[in-house]
Amino acid sequence: KLYFDYCASAPLHPQVIHKLIDSSVNLYANASSTHEIGFEVNRIIEASRERIANVLHVKPSEVIFTSGATESNNMAILGVVRAYMKRTSQIPHLILSEVEHSSVYNCCKQLRDEGVEVTFLGVDRSGVVNPSALEKAIQDNTVLVSIMHVNNETGTIQPVHEIGKLLKTKPAIQFHVDGVQGFGKANLDLEDIDLYTLSGHKMGGPKGIGILIAKEGVELMPLMYGGNNEFGHRPGTTNVPGVVCLTEAVELSIAEQAETTTYLTSLHHFIYSKLQSIPELIINTPEPPLSAPHIINFSYHNKGITSAIMISILAKKNIVVSSQSACSSKAKESRVLMAMTHNEEIASSSIRLSLHESVSFDDAKYLVNSITEMIDQIKSTNKFQLL
Ligand code: PMP
Repeated sequence: KLYFDYCASAPLHPQVIHKLIDSSVNLYANASSTHEIGFEVNRIIEASRERIANVLHVKPSEVIFTSGATESNNMAILGVVRAYMKRTSQIPHLILSEVEHSSVYNCCKQLRDEGVEVTFLGVDRSGVVNPSALEKAIQDNTVLVSIMHVNNETGTIQPVHEIGKLLKTKPAIQFHVDGVQGFGKANLDLEDIDLYTLSGHKMGGPKGIGILIAKEGVELMPLMYGGNNEFGHRPGTTNVPGVVCLTEAVELSIAEQAETTTYLTSLHHFIYSKLQSIPELIINTPEPPLSAPHIINFSYHNKGITSAIMISILAKKNIVVSSQSACSSKAKESRVLMAMTHNEEIASSSIRLSLHESVSFDDAKYLVNSITEMIDQIKSTNKFQLL
């Protein structure tokens, strides 16, 4: 099988594999235990926190280990909103884009149902948020703006730096960035960002571990109550192998970023230009530098053919792709593409290709040829023969 769904989850980095086995077997003590082996494990956790802080240019006390990006995103949003509500009797206001990952989007929708004011910002055809529209949406009671770095369905890069600069002049507003798909693929300076989310399994680390960077001064209420782990932000026994391997993955992603992105950029260019030459396809991913080098999203609308049908045609050719985020894959049409195009046909006939440095040019050629064959097949057959 040729896998092109690396945004949903990527394999462990080869250098992380032995760390996972070694730390799972040997570092079994509880990092909070007050005995010698507990102290030793705790030292490893704190050294990991420091290594991550060094790479991200933040303080170790600003690094919170979580169970993954879904938790980090919820912790950032619910944490800021609850801290505000504890401090004042005013209703808080949040701003996010319509193309955020479901762990941001649905969290904000839930808060809206609970009475919090929420502005969902639209995007243009490339999926980009307009910073001046964002500025106009700011209210006196705005407490948080959440805008992702790289979109997980289209690869679109948001003007996070510009938004950060704009929000720097408004210290009452916290700026949260979901950095999951951009990390190791597109540069980002965290200087003007207050809260930043990462996930282990998208960068060669294991599943079930993530990071929330919460800068000094950001008030956060915890999501769960229990012990005093993670500076009181997150109770529960620390996932030691997760932390050890995530730290390795963070360092490797940064160390290898230049080489990885150079390769991915040429692979992306090859696939992108081949798909552009197929007149029937609508390419939803904007051309670089507006997009990251590992995602290409296209739609093909003909005879009511949906994403699911195309996924199964490609599966018969041993190609594994997805239509949208794995977290919202039960939805008929893509919310992200609806926000970008306002067109149900485009949004229900999309395919997301996501790449990795292990994908060869031969794999990419096979992929493009298979997509071309699929289009011909769809054009020359009726829908029911394809099912
Ligand atoms: N944000 C983005 C942009 C993502 O792509 C994902 C994974 N689909 C998440 C958050 C959630 O990550 P996790 O699986 O670590 O909860």
